[in-house]
Amino acid sequence: MEALDKEIEKLKREKPVYKEILCFYQNLLRLFKEVKGKIKPSFEISEGDFNKRIDNGFPVYKWDEALYSEDELKKCLKIFLDFLPEDKTKKLNQISSIIERDNFTISPILKEFSTKNLTYFKQMEQFEEETVKLLEVFSYLVLKPIVEEELLKFQKKLEKIKWNEAFCPFCGFSPSYALIEQEEGFKYLNCSLCGHMWRFPRLLCINCKKELKEYFYDPDDQTCRIELCNECKNYIKVFDARGNIYGYPPLVKDLITLHMDVIAKEKGFTKESGSLFF
Ligand SMILES: [Zn+2]
Ligand SMILES: [Zn+2]
Repeated sequence: MEALDKEIEKLKREKPVYKEILCFYQNLLRLFKEVKGKIKPSFEISEGDFNKRIDNGFPVYKWDEALYSEDELKKCLKIFLDFLPEDKTKKLNQISSIIERDNFTISPILKEFSTKNLTYFKQMEQFEEETVKLLEVFSYLVLKPIVEEELLKFQKKLEKIKWNEAFCPFCGFSPSYALIEQEEGFKYLNCSLCGHMWRFPRLLCINCKKELKEYFYDPDDQTCRIELCNECKNYIKVFDARGNIYGYPPLVKDLITLHMDVIAKEKGFTKESGSLFF
């Protein structure tokens, strides 16, 4: 954490355009840590069920199989609500008043978000569209540190499995970017929720699995490029991890290369799932 903080401080000086977003991210990291202190990892699965899920192409983690306290979850949601500047949107007040209602429970919302059941969110007719969108953002913020902690216990096991899908074998979320490990030449996808990394065929599109044929580099940083799929118009950001995929802080790099996302979008490409910021 301290090393990451130092790295971020250095980047703030080197890339002043990204200073604001890096400060925001630093604050988020602090809040994630706070959530981790409140919610104990409690997801359990038997060896047999773990293997069965992986063999059948299903992610391992299920919200239902963990025990989280509703009260603590609400407190976590409040942590983020209190942090975000209220003047930016009146909807935050609306969310605060919603969660203070006696009959409001956050667990069902987080459960549906954890399975990416977007229909559930679309059908929340009692709330305005903008409020629902914010609820999705807050669900992501609360869920992320919880699932990151749950992952720790399973990481070793997950490194040994066979997995050819483009979604995370642990939590089922889509990757936010990819890393190339130069020495072996493998491509790793990085989960946008829990941060798990898994190997994926280097030349295939994560969306339609056709071959990727086009790419462009960041003119200021040759270790970052965007790979484009001309079949489905999906794109993915790829970092050259230079032999150290675990010691590398790519999420920060993802933030300071948002201009690459802008270019890809201007070219008419979209990202299947994004980081929180893009
Ligand atoms: Zn994941
Ligand atoms: Zn494609």
